[in-house]
Formats: sequence, structure tokens, C-alpha cells
Amino acid sequence: MASSTYAFAPERYEEQLAALIGELEELSEIDGEGYRRALRRHPKDGRGFFSKSEIIRGFRYLNEALGWARDEAEFVARLRMKPIRTASGVAPVTLLTKPHPCPGRCIFCPSDVRMPKSYLSDEPGAQRAAQHRFDPYAQTLSRLRTYHHTGHRVDKAELIVLGGTWSSYAEPYQLWFVKRSFDALNDFERWRDGAVAPPLTTGLEWSQLGERIDGRHVRRGYNRIVSDHADLHGGGRLAAQTASWNELARTQRDNETATARCVGLVVETRPDHLTAAEVERIRRLGATKVQLGYQSLSDEVLAANRRGHDVASIRRAMRLLRGAGLKIHAHWMPNLYGSSPERDVEDFARIFADPDFRPDELKIYPCSLIESAELMRYWPHPGDPRHPGHRHRRRQPADQLPRARRGRAGSAGAAGAGHPGARGAPP
Ligand code: SF4
Repeated sequence: MASSTYAFAPERYEEQLAALIGELEELSEIDGEGYRRALRRHPKDGRGFFSKSEIIRGFRYLNEALGWARDEAEFVARLRMKPIRTASGVAPVTLLTKPHPCPGRCIFCPSDVRMPKSYLSDEPGAQRAAQHRFDPYAQTLSRLRTYHHTGHRVDKAELIVLGGTWSSYAEPYQLWFVKRSFDALNDFERWRDGAVAPPLTTGLEWSQLGERIDGRHVRRGYNRIVSDHADLHGGGRLAAQTASWNELARTQRDNETATARCVGLVVETRPDHLTAAEVERIRRLGATKVQLGYQSLSDEVLAANRRGHDVASIRRAMRLLRGAGLKIHAHWMPNLYGSSPERDVEDFARIFADPDFRPDELKIYPCSLIESAELMRYWPHPGDPRHPGHRHRRRQPADQLPRARRGRAGSAGAAGAGHPGARGAPP
């Protein structure tokens, strides 16, 4: 847990904070040199600087403890960090599910066994989730508290559940995950200003899992490693990750009058996992939007990347989601293996030209090459007989190699999301 988030005690710094806040209130704009000068004049512990979240916590504390009765909303709005995050009036809360076997075999997808499939553990959002052992309650509370302490309103929140393929997680786990996220929204007021971290409910430690997958020679794949780890160490903790439909419904009803209310729930999945029954179940969970991995609208490119479904599946999934009134957020990947810049341009045009597609939102993940992805096997490795690519002499166009090496996965993965991949020569 990120204990430092909870450890700050404004009462220890009453004098410094009061002086600092008084000075900030005099500034016409709380930013720039004037702000920095005020920070330097009133250092924390005589050396460091107060962060904006500490100043906001200090303001709230002093307002109450000293009976200041000053306009908190006005002060916080002037100090707010990254106001764009909640500019729509809704605080997005991104949560990651636990590492879990994925039914997909997509060659571009990274396999970091400490993460849900397709995510990389060096991304900040993924690190936050891992710190909380992918526990939905702790993840949600931590995010809400960060928003609150940096001056954002959290009375309306959108829960964005990411990780692998949502539809492949067992139903009791899905119910538990959504219920615990709602529990956190309902309990937010209780934990909002306290100096104590909320307890972890359950969750395995995945960060110490030492195995690393080399996409060029996969001995034990992602699915096997994460299943073995869960079997070996899961025990009662994983068994506790369950809830019933009735429990979920009760928690959702309680949320209707909570301080932090859920106004949107997003899950991500593969097109071929969406049947009428699955879409109905997703609606029953309370989802309002589905992130759907198109990746490509070419059967040939989908097959070359072992995506495991065709374009017809995407059309079917779109019809089902639309029919159920769900918003659709599509993922699309240029630079996939077997494509070309010209084909990508045509593919992109199809997303909007064909009325079967036209998603409400689109996320573009240029494919890049990452060590743990099977796509590494398709990269020419002259002279190394273990690689299927070693026979291939054709190389990437000079401008593509540096781009592919620089590439990093996007923050969201999924149903095939953003990852590595290179437009390599075919095997
Ligand atoms: S891209 Fe999505 S469906 Fe494919 S393996 Fe990765 S997580 Fe699974």
C-alpha cells in the first residue's frame, strides 16, 4: 500500500500551513513564481516543500480546526492539479483486474506475468494497481482519495475496469470485483480524510513473481505461469473473491445515496466473447460502456496476428452492444504484423465509412515490439537458428525499426490493446 498517501498529518504543521495558505490566498494566480516563492518561504520541516495535496488537506483541516469558515471550494479550485481530469464533472477511476489466463493468443500482446494480460508492470497506472494487489476496494479508495486531496470532486465517478478479457473471468469474481468497487464508493466518506490506509480485503502478491517471458522462445506461457501461481499461493484469499447477484444489487442500491456515486461502469472484452447472454450479463452488472478490441478490420491481418476472430465477429458484437444500449469504445491498432501504411489508412477509413462499426469512442494503439510478445519470433534474427525469423533477410524499412524499438504499450490493454508489434517480414 502507498502508506505515505495516508501518513500526512496537517495538525503537525498548523503554523507553517496557516502562513503559507494565507500568502497563497493573496496571490492573484496560484501558480508560477509567486507560488514557488511562497513555498520556499514556508518550507515543510524546514527544508522540503508542501505538495498541493498537502496544502489542500491543510486548508480543510485549518478551516475546521480553527473555524476559519473560508471558501474551501474557491481555494481548492484555484489550486487544483490537472483540472482536465474531472472537467466533464465525472472522476474516472481506472481499476485493473488480477493476472488471469486469457483466451486470446494474439502475437502482439505482451506477457508480463505480474500483470493482467496485455499490461506492463512499468506503467504508472499498472504499478498503482499492483501496489494494491489488484484489490478493487483498495484501488478505488486510493484513487478517490487522490482526487479529493488534489482538489477534484468525486461525487460522480466512472469505474473503468481494465485487464485481459473481462468475459473470461469467472462470474463470482466479476460480481465481487464490481461489488467491492461499489463498496469503496459507499465507504469513501469514512476513509476520505483519515491518516490510516484502508485494509486490503484480499489479493495475492504478484510483484515478486520472478519469471519473465521471452517472446522468442516461450517455454512456459503466461496462462500457465499465472494459473500455477494462483493455485500455489491463492488458497483462501482467492476463494474469498466472490459475491452473489443479490449482494451486488444491494451495494448498488446503497450507492444511489452515497457521497461518491457511480455514473458509469466500463469493462473491456473481445468481440468473439460477446453473445446475447454475455451482453445481458454485462448490463446486469451495471456496465454502461464496453471497450471492444477491433485491432483490425481485415480478416487477413487478424489471422496473421492470431487474433482468433474475424471481422464478422466484430460486426456481430457491435450489433449486440448497440441493441443493449451500451456505449462502445473501440481499440484499433495500426502497424500490425502483415499490414502496411497504405492498408492501415484504408482500415482506418473503414471504421467510419461502414455503418456497422462507427464506435462512440476510439483508442488507437500503434503496434510496437516488446520482448515478452510472441511477435519477437517474427522479427528477423539473422544467424540465430532458434528463431523462425532467422531465414529472413528482408529487414524493416529503415524508418520503422527505431520506431518499433521506441514503442511502448499504451496504458490500456485489452481485448487486445496496445502493445508491441512490428511490421516485420512474414515468416
Ligand atoms: S490482446 Fe487481448 S485478447 Fe489478445 S492475448 Fe492480449 S489480452 Fe488477450
